This record gives sequence, structure tokens and C-alpha cells, in this order.
Amino acid sequence: MPQSHSTTSTSSPTARTRATVTALSDLWPPPTTGTPPGAATVTTDGQPIVTSPADLPPVLPPGGRALRSTATRTCSPPDARGEWLRFAPVQPLFRARAAQRLAVLAYHGVTDPRSFGAQLDRLRRLATPVSLASVQQAVTERRPLPARSVLVTFDDADRSVLTHALPALIERGIPAAAFVISELIGTEKPFWWHEADFLARHGGRARSLDCGHPSQLLRRLKAMPDPDRRRSLHELRVSADRRPPGQEQLTPADLLALRAGGVAIGNHTQGHPCLGRCDDATVRAEITGAHEALTRWLGDPPIAFAYPDGGHDVRAETVLQELGYRLGFLSDHRLGPRLPSHPLQISRLQVDSTTSTRRFDTILSGLEPAYRRWRGHAA
Ligand SMILES: [Zn+2]
Repeated sequence: MPQSHSTTSTSSPTARTRATVTALSDLWPPPTTGTPPGAATVTTDGQPIVTSPADLPPVLPPGGRALRSTATRTCSPPDARGEWLRFAPVQPLFRARAAQRLAVLAYHGVTDPRSFGAQLDRLRRLATPVSLASVQQAVTERRPLPARSVLVTFDDADRSVLTHALPALIERGIPAAAFVISELIGTEKPFWWHEADFLARHGGRARSLDCGHPSQLLRRLKAMPDPDRRRSLHELRVSADRRPPGQEQLTPADLLALRAGGVAIGNHTQGHPCLGRCDDATVRAEITGAHEALTRWLGDPPIAFAYPDGGHDVRAETVLQELGYRLGFLSDHRLGPRLPSHPLQISRLQVDSTTSTRRFDTILSGLEPAYRRWRGHAA
């Protein structure tokens, strides 16, 4: 049971419940709007590109533990807490309020098809699945989406979206959207965060990663100015003992198959940098490069974008407006209004295919996200 912010001393169960409801209601702020992205320009520290492993510090000591737990993806799902929240007295209240909100679910890959299917069944019973086109239409016509609207989305779009998610979605008639990293399409390149993890575990070294706990590798890479992140990745590549195994990615034909099955395809940049760490020209190139590639493969320009790492960037939004994008999605672990007030800053809830249906309910209701914010673990 979450602790209440209320300082009111109550004795009856009803009074206690009311006090808790009041406090948790305070944790229900409207979606993030217009957050400035911070520094708009970053530069390198002027260090030359390294082509030899000599003198590069080790990222991991020999025999060091794997970094899998921190580097499996760039947008981590919620942790395992919160399942008990399903039994909280305020859950019905949150569920009732959520019925008047738009829930956009942000998945990555689908690692547990059975659990994912159970989640979709839950959506069929509790929610009104809507398509990306329906959200776009609501924005265009200024008409709120139906009560309990839920849009399913996938970021990064690994092959499990095609092999596991698509059949489950088609079976249940649920539409979705997938946001792809264009420079990976048709390749066997791993995601850069997987590659960095592998290289670090196999002797990779980089000057900018010579301090701090190894488990912080991904955090440190993401915090760097983007040129430094790229340079560090290069240093890891030239110094590691082994090359990472290939990762079969979706092909242009797979994108068409997804779209034919009701999964709209959106832009997730060319290479998935943290846009807030990129200079203006890179932000523009990352978005327009992916836009042009997707237009070429799909025959139509994409109209939706998901910010890599989930954070809003005002320079990116400017580019998106110029290119005619209608919808932009954050990963802020919040519900949003059924008529998005800022269509290029639509909130999403972070979920994982392994999430139990009990905890899935508390995420969908907004109670688990509110509880996490209250506990200081906002996404
Ligand atoms: Zn992503």
C-alpha cells in the first residue's frame, strides 16, 4: 500500500482510504508538455579518433561480470515492483480515471509471446484498441478518441515484432505501430547498446569509459555528447578481442508485411542517438535520413515519430513539423488526454511482454506510474 502524502490522522478505514485517494490523486499530473530539451549544441573534446587499442583503459577487468542487466536496451521497462498495487483500494478510482485518458503502450521486443498474448486479451476485455491512423484522425478532427482507448507501439522494432507480436495482434484484430531505426533495416548489425555491452565484456577499451563502475557503461555512453559516444564505440571496436555476433534485423519487405498486418511504421531516427546529446545538424540528419529511407521503402512518408530514449527535443519537433509529421511519442510512463493537446509530445506507458497481467492492469490504470513517480522513480 503506498504511503499517503496526507498528514491527516484518520482512524476509520473509509477515512484512511479517502485520505490516500486524495494524496495519490495529486500524483496524477497532466502529460508533460513543452519541456525544453536543455542544451542544444554539443561538441567533442577534440581528442583524435583512436585506431589502435594501445593505452586505452579497460572498461571491464578480466573476468568481470557481464553488463547484460544494464545494457539490454536503451529504454528500460519498469521494474518488478507494483504487482501488489492491484489490490490497493485506489485502483478502481485510477481505473475509472484512466478510462477517460489515452494509454499508449511502449513495448520493445516481445520475448514472451504467451504473456504478450495474455496482455492483448486483457486489452480486448478492458480497453478499446485504436490504430495510429485513429489517433491521427482524432488530432486532425479535434475529436477525442473513445473511452479506454489504447494504442500498442513498439520501439526499435527487432524481429520479434514480426515473428511474435504480429501473429498475436492479427489473431485478436489489434492494430499497432512500430518505430524503426532505419540504418539497421536489412542488416545484421546489433543495436549499438548491445554491441557496446558485448565489446566491453570482451576486452574493449575506451578513454572516456576509464572510470566509474562497469555496470554504468550504458548510462555513461548515453550521457556523453554524441560525437564522444561514437568515438567511444569506435575505440571499443578496435580494442575488443572479438566482434559481436550479428543480429538479424527487419528488412524493407518485413516492414511492408507489418504494415499489411495492421502495424503502422514510424520513424525512430537513423541510428538511435540520444537527441539531447546531438548538435543541431545531427538531429536534423538523423530524422530526415530515416524519413527518406522509410519513404523509399514504404512508398509513403511516415507520419509518426518516437523520440529515441523517450525524451522530447524541441529541435527534433521543429524538423518533424517541417517534414509533415502528425504524431510524436515520448516514453515518460504517463497516460495522456484522449485528444492529444500536443500531438508531437504524446505520452506513453512503458510495458514489457513479460509483465504479469496483474501488474499490467496497474500500469494501464496509471496507478503504478503514479506510484513510481511518488517513490521518486519516475520514468
Ligand atoms: Zn528506442
